[in-house]
Amino acid sequence: MTQEDAAESWGPISFGGAEVKPGTRARFNLPMSRLPTGTEVGLPVVVVRGVKPGPSIWLSAALHGDELNGVEIVRSVLERIDPREFHGTLIAVPVVNLFGFLNESRYTPDRRDLNRSFPGREKGSLASRVAHLFMEEIVSRCDLGIDLHTGSDNRTNLPQIRGNMRDKETFELARAFAAPVMMHSRNREGTLRKAATKLGKKVLLFEGGESMRLNEQVIEVGREGILRVLHYLKMREYDRPQIHANSMFVGKTSWIRARRAGVLRLFRHMGDIVEKGEELGAIEDILGNNTVKVKSTRYGVIIGHALNPLVYQGDAIVNVARLDQDEDEEEE
Ligand SMILES: [Zn+2]
Repeated sequence: MTQEDAAESWGPISFGGAEVKPGTRARFNLPMSRLPTGTEVGLPVVVVRGVKPGPSIWLSAALHGDELNGVEIVRSVLERIDPREFHGTLIAVPVVNLFGFLNESRYTPDRRDLNRSFPGREKGSLASRVAHLFMEEIVSRCDLGIDLHTGSDNRTNLPQIRGNMRDKETFELARAFAAPVMMHSRNREGTLRKAATKLGKKVLLFEGGESMRLNEQVIEVGREGILRVLHYLKMREYDRPQIHANSMFVGKTSWIRARRAGVLRLFRHMGDIVEKGEELGAIEDILGNNTVKVKSTRYGVIIGHALNPLVYQGDAIVNVARLDQDEDEEEE
């Protein structure tokens, strides 16, 4: 098909029983389930149909219901998109785990992790049904997607892109996003990323900040990264100077654990580059006795740390990504 033919055949997209015409956007509530009160619960979706042909991309956030930065990132991206100056299609789902979001919980009400429930089943558990709906209605219509997360369990993350960096296209998309760091990460069973990858979709996973909080800097990195990816895909002009021209491609990451229980004080901060053996902080009891030093086990960059200063022996306290070897496995 020539480009003119493609433009000719570029028409409305059918979604949620309606049509979204080129150059417009529409909001949907995809029927999902009911509350015990009988109230119907729908999955909020915004579909932007550009005026000209282009790729189809999804944005998803709050698969973990308490991870809010992504919700705000999606809102602020949509605010900047004019469907009349857009190529291709964008499908945005700011809150995938609506139940967890309403309950301020990472999980669905059946205590499942939605991001371990993909691809899901039509007649499965509640989490499994939501996953199935998302695969059928969103992922199947798209070429690629960006899934937005934050740290969990009172831990915070440096804004970072994870993905299958051994795939050239994914690697280039991650470079275009240009978060402060990017890394290769293992594709764990049950995740949206794994299920979508099996269908041939390219997926970037963004992590930044902590749960139940909005972090302005993280939101800016996420929003500008997505706008840069849209520019890279020729879906939209990017009109701002780059805030992170280059992403640091880091290697294997691992958490440094507390050697004893106590009160943790960190001397080094998020994004700091640290030497092997460098003192990152100290753990001591409440009167400052029995101090143990927290030392870096490698040369690398701090990409995450605990927020709760009260630690038990074995708690994960500082996440350091290697800078002195090739990319390696990381879990999400
Ligand atoms: Zn998450």
